[in-house]
Amino acid sequence: MASIAIPATALNGTAPLPGRTREPLPDRSASAWRNALLGALPMPEIRLLLPFLVETEIRAGETLIEQDRAVESCHFIESGLVALIAFTGDRKPVQVGMLGADGLVGAPAALASEQSPVRAVTQTRCTTSVIPADRLRQLAAECPTLRTLVLGQLRNQFRQSTRSAACIARHSLEQRVARWILDVSDRLGRDSVELTHDFLASLLGVRRASVTCALHVLEGERAIIARRGQLTIRDRTRLAALACAC
Ligand SMILES: [Zn+2]
Repeated sequence: MASIAIPATALNGTAPLPGRTREPLPDRSASAWRNALLGALPMPEIRLLLPFLVETEIRAGETLIEQDRAVESCHFIESGLVALIAFTGDRKPVQVGMLGADGLVGAPAALASEQSPVRAVTQTRCTTSVIPADRLRQLAAECPTLRTLVLGQLRNQFRQSTRSAACIARHSLEQRVARWILDVSDRLGRDSVELTHDFLASLLGVRRASVTCALHVLEGERAIIARRGQLTIRDRTRLAALACAC
């Protein structure tokens, strides 16, 4: 997977960033932000962040942050989904979280300069407001609401990763695939999800053949329709009955 190319000026954290400009501040209410965290910030704190936020369009399958590497940029997700993936010692990947327009990619870096515990990969096409991590860290130290929201984000990601560990240990692959399809559908607000069996296998940490088998089971139950590169929910109630309760 290729890394997203962020302009060099977006990484140094010392100057306002080039890129798509925002609407003038007096016309911009908090509700104009699609990202829930930015939308919850009071105007004085938004005024401090605004010069450093750059709206960026990103294709599906791009790596925003690499595991065990320093975080250079943080992303407030405006639209789309980002998968948080952890690698085992033998480099086997497994999804440990999913962020949408309620999320901040690189949240730990907003509090401390540490290596990322996960890889963050765009699961769909995304729009994000990107900010240099060191600049966000500086602003989080100055802005009490931003700091509180970042802490809430970390609690949410911790909950997701613990739930994911329990799910992997206790539930069948068919249950996990059904849960995954429902979660993605709910977050995207539509019944169809574009992705390949290979990508889903990498997210769930299993072989492609196992994913294909699980999808055949869900299709046999008439809960989904699986086509090349696309999954569609056929019967949401049936799919929910086949999913684990995670
Ligand atoms: Zn589960």
